[in-house]
Amino acid sequence: MGQLNLLSSSEIGQCSRCGEKLRVDPNRNADARMLRRAKTADGVCVNCALRAWFEIAGEVGAIRDLDPKQLLIPMIQEQMGRVIRAAKADADPAEIDWTKLVRDWDLPLDKRKPKRARKVPN
Ligand SMILES: [Zn+2]
Repeated sequence: MGQLNLLSSSEIGQCSRCGEKLRVDPNRNADARMLRRAKTADGVCVNCALRAWFEIAGEVGAIRDLDPKQLLIPMIQEQMGRVIRAAKADADPAEIDWTKLVRDWDLPLDKRKPKRARKVPN
């Protein structure tokens, strides 16, 4: 799976995963290692971009056993914020809506190739 582009401010678009209305930010960092802003209005919101990052990171085993609900714990969110800043991400950790990220955890990551997502226990 390729890197999903992140949308924000100025050009209007829509998250291709959850449908949230978004804008394209002209101030993108081409060197961002995660959550990089999109050049065009074709991409996903910060929550969906982070969800996709978890899918990739999970494949290499770093966070394979993560229970998505753990992402609602402020301490875990702070740790993820440090990871995001260390990766020189375009997105500010404060932009992340953790509740929405966990709620939408099982939405397909790519409409062309729906993947079986891990189930979030209720
Ligand atoms: Zn989204």
